[in-house]
Amino acid sequence: PGDACHEPEPFISTAGPVLSTRFGNADGTWFDAYVESGGYVAAKRALSMTPAQIIDEISQSNLRGLGGAGFPTAKKWSFIPKNSARPVYLVVNADEGEPGTFKDRYILERDPHALLEGMIVATYSIGSHKAYVYIRGEYFRSADRFNRAVQEAHAHGWLGTNIQGSGFDLDVVVHRGAGAYICGEETALLTSLEGGKGFPKLKPPFPAISGLFHCPTIVNNVETLACVPFILREGAERFARLGTSTQGGTRLFSVCGHVQRPGLYEAPVGVSLRELIEGHAGGVRDGRTLKAVVPGGISAKVLTASEIDVQMDFDSLMAAGSMAGSGGVIVMDDTTCMFEALQSASKFFAHESCGQCSPCREGTGWVYRILNRIAEGKGRPQDLDDLLAIARDMEGKTICVFADAAAWPVQSYITKFREEFDAHVRIGTCPARSREVAACQ
Ligand code: NAD
Repeated sequence: PGDACHEPEPFISTAGPVLSTRFGNADGTWFDAYVESGGYVAAKRALSMTPAQIIDEISQSNLRGLGGAGFPTAKKWSFIPKNSARPVYLVVNADEGEPGTFKDRYILERDPHALLEGMIVATYSIGSHKAYVYIRGEYFRSADRFNRAVQEAHAHGWLGTNIQGSGFDLDVVVHRGAGAYICGEETALLTSLEGGKGFPKLKPPFPAISGLFHCPTIVNNVETLACVPFILREGAERFARLGTSTQGGTRLFSVCGHVQRPGLYEAPVGVSLRELIEGHAGGVRDGRTLKAVVPGGISAKVLTASEIDVQMDFDSLMAAGSMAGSGGVIVMDDTTCMFEALQSASKFFAHESCGQCSPCREGTGWVYRILNRIAEGKGRPQDLDDLLAIARDMEGKTICVFADAAAWPVQSYITKFREEFDAHVRIGTCPARSREVAACQ
């Protein structure tokens, strides 16, 4: 392949203001540098407040869960039963596995104390004295950096018993995943943490009522917790003002695919998809034109080039018929074969389905096998409608949202690029394919 097919190095934001401020400082991962740049001020303040006051402040900040679902963080924390007779746990979901998403990895690698500080505030707010951090198995450096930060925090009295003389105790356990995407689903993650096979469980009960070891548990994403120190240090109002009326702050957008400058960009949650692609990531690579974008990780419904004037917050993208999800933006230029893009996503879902629920286990396999047969030039006129029917039968009929996530790309790719899929079924090849070949020669 020539230059048109090169793989540029990812760009990593260092501009802040909330999450990436320390990303450019090679020493920023160490305790001393963290404290010098305002670290642990928020935790100190939190330990002098009541849990109710903290939850109220987080509520005013409009912080929402950045793992992908966008659930209001303060509301989730407030679900923990008051004066629980059973232990309360905080579980940090660092099992970042959504294709196109690489944000939590960099928080763990480049600002691990920010996560720890957010965890101290969260545990104190929910009355928990034990927190588990479930780190994706492949994230070796992330786990090393975070473990080092835990040791440093212990050494400086920010973990363990009687933290900074406040009477508050916190113990942190780091646990490593083993490469299963489904273990990022919160109930599967909890089962895995308990030593079981990573199978999701029906909700309700939600973990806040009955989670780890059947105890009240808050599961929060890394990025969500990493926003918390900023909120308590700089004020809820400042954080809220950075965002939209229903979602505060900034977030880390992972932009990958056919852009000039793939990378991790911190931007206000209300930034437009166009600005992310054309401004931050430098536009579509090599003078080609945009064909499609997945705005929130591989599970999000695909958008066409004419749909990118949309804000990236949870509610705007939902209204636009897709989702903000994990903030993983996958950009596809006009050389992309949408059939092959779906085939690739379907392979992933068929491989990662845990197999508990028939619609998911069978559906993901059927979709992948039908697409493979079409790719071999053996398409049948009925195939696309069958694929849509299978996707319909997967949606909303299983224990967890994995099947929905596998169904949405099938529905959106086929519906929005029907002609291209029709061509594949009819002639076993794609008009976009010849353009791609030309671009790589
Ligand atoms: P969900 O809407 O079921 O739950 C979101 C959170 O809110 C959970 O913690 C849940 O326990 C809590 N919650 C919701 N309603 C509640 C209630 N009534 N009482 C108490 N707690 C309540 O969504 P989900 O299945 O946890 O997450 C789906 C999202 O995960 C998708 O949108 C996708 O974007 C994202 N995802 C992210 C990754 C990644 O790598 N970051 C991977 C796959 C999927």
